[in-house]
Amino acid sequence: MRAHDRAYAYSNSNANGLGFKPIMQTRPKKYQKNKGKLCGKDGCARAAAALGLCLQHYKRSRPGYAERRRVEKRRQDKANPEAHRARCRRWGRSQRGKAWKRSARRLRRAKLKNACPKWVDRREIQRIYLNCPRGMQVDHFYPLKSDFVCGLHVPWNLQYLTPVENARKGNSIPEASRAPRQ
Ligand SMILES: [Zn+2]
Repeated sequence: MRAHDRAYAYSNSNANGLGFKPIMQTRPKKYQKNKGKLCGKDGCARAAAALGLCLQHYKRSRPGYAERRRVEKRRQDKANPEAHRARCRRWGRSQRGKAWKRSARRLRRAKLKNACPKWVDRREIQRIYLNCPRGMQVDHFYPLKSDFVCGLHVPWNLQYLTPVENARKGNSIPEASRAPRQ
C-alpha cells in the first residue's frame, strides 16, 4: 500500500478527529491537481474532481452511462408504476414536455405529407421546438400547405414568431418569393 493510499484509508476510517490529516489533504494525487478548479462542463459551478469534471459530470462522461441509467430507470418504473405514471404526467405538463409533444405532432403531420425528407436531422428540428422562447411559436417560413408552394418540415424552414405575427401570416408566403397568380 502506497503512502497516500494509506493516509486515505486512515482518513476514511473513523480515525478522523484523532490527529490524522483531514480528508482533502490526503486525496490521491490524481485528484489533487484539480484542487481549487471548477468543473470543465459549460455553466457548471461545482468543484472539479476526476478528469477536471465534478462528480456528477464525471459520472455522466463514463462509457455506457446512458444505457446503465436507462436500465436502472426501467427497473424503478417497473417496481413503482404509480410513481412512473406521476412522473409522466409531470413531464407532459412541463414546458419542455409540451414543446416535445408539439414537435412530435408536427413531425407526424409532416410525415403524412412527405414534407420531412428522411435525410433531415430530426434531433435538430426537435431542438428548435425545445428551445422556442416562451410566448413564441414555431412557424414554417414556407407553409406546409399553401396555394403556391409547399414548404418542408426542415430546420432551415423554421422560425420563431409571436402568436399575433403567426396568425397574421396564416399560410401565406413572404411577398418577395410569391409567384404571380395564373
Ligand atoms: Zn459539473
